[in-house]
Amino acid sequence: MKRLILPLVLLSGVAVGQTKLRPEIDKKASALESKVIEWRRDIHQNPELGNAETRTAKKIADHLRSLGIEVQEGVAVTGVVGVLKGGKPGPTVALRADMDALPVTERVDLPFKSTVTTTYNGQETGVMHACGHDTHVAILMGVAEVLAGMQKDLQGTVKFLFQPAEEGIYQEGVTTWGAKQMVEEGVMKDVDAVFGLHIGSQMEVGKVGYRSGPAMAGVDNLEITVHGTQAHGASPWSGTDPIVTSAQIVNGLQTIISRNVNITAAPAIVTVGAIHGGIRHNIIPEKVEMIGTIRTFGDEQQALVHKRITEIATHIAESAGAKADVNIEKLYPATVNDPALTELMGPSILAAAGEGNVINNPLITGAEDFSFFQREKPGLFISLGGMKKGGDPTKTPSHHTPDFYIDEGGFVLGMRVMSYFVVDYMGMKK
Ligand SMILES: [Zn+2]
Ligand SMILES: [Zn+2]
Repeated sequence: MKRLILPLVLLSGVAVGQTKLRPEIDKKASALESKVIEWRRDIHQNPELGNAETRTAKKIADHLRSLGIEVQEGVAVTGVVGVLKGGKPGPTVALRADMDALPVTERVDLPFKSTVTTTYNGQETGVMHACGHDTHVAILMGVAEVLAGMQKDLQGTVKFLFQPAEEGIYQEGVTTWGAKQMVEEGVMKDVDAVFGLHIGSQMEVGKVGYRSGPAMAGVDNLEITVHGTQAHGASPWSGTDPIVTSAQIVNGLQTIISRNVNITAAPAIVTVGAIHGGIRHNIIPEKVEMIGTIRTFGDEQQALVHKRITEIATHIAESAGAKADVNIEKLYPATVNDPALTELMGPSILAAAGEGNVINNPLITGAEDFSFFQREKPGLFISLGGMKKGGDPTKTPSHHTPDFYIDEGGFVLGMRVMSYFVVDYMGMKK
């Protein structure tokens, strides 16, 4: 009798064997909805900043253990890794959820609103899940329960990566991200493919978005110091003016995107965000400091933009008789969805979301440290709708703001698509 489903399964583009688990996933995910919402609200009300997610981590670890999943705690400071070995041999599929909140004071009137406060960079602030990582944790806890319930049917191993500090740790002398550190601690060594999702406050519930190849930008910090020679403001000829030189450099940098980057392949951004120099009307200062951000969509483009920034800044300074020191700090690489894996999993996304609910995402100039996992093994990062049905995205508060709000109606779809990734991938790669 089982053979009868073969043509249908082949039509959907997925190998036989595991798609038959989809109805069971659907049933289990729906049954878990209220539990996932409850977990999410509890985490939302108790947000923790990067590398301080101890309460969240304990909740996750206790839950995974209760499901019989092997648990490792304290990975990359506060991360939790769960390993669920299926009943049959096969590949290892990693699923990732980030756990950290942000130094934002919640303004949304919810019964489970965060009232947590802390001191951050010397300032009093609230703490809020203003990027929706609370939903990622709750959804992945739900996925763990769904998959643990079909353990004997799984053709491979599922690795749950609950990651701290996606938003980064910016302390004196330390700049790091949870994903980077998890990779350094070896979590990706035995993994064949990695999947992650991000909830979107401006994408309607019921929708899933993704794109193949570069999807989110890589981000780097830029610092340029222009050294001139101090002079009286009334006799500029007696010095070298770093302010005029800096103005030329800022303008020169604009030509990188317009004249050097192949914008038909992918856009890039160079933004100077601050300029500091001088103290009063009639003193030409000795130096000017500029800081900014660079966004690129791949290693080659990133190398070109970095090279041109350095050339433009140093040569413009040289032409003025000044000197420019350029310092670029690489932060996250671009989030690049492996094209082969993306193509392979397209039918799983369509099957989970349904016709008309799959969005071809535009490029996003924001960044995600999921990229560190993707640099190790093929990975796919998708977006999940979290805006109430019929909402207007242009009037809906964006991520990282005090009014950020997530509609909980998309959690079941999140569980289903992540679970489909696991069983469908295993079915194809066993
Ligand atoms: Zn964020
Ligand atoms: Zn985020």
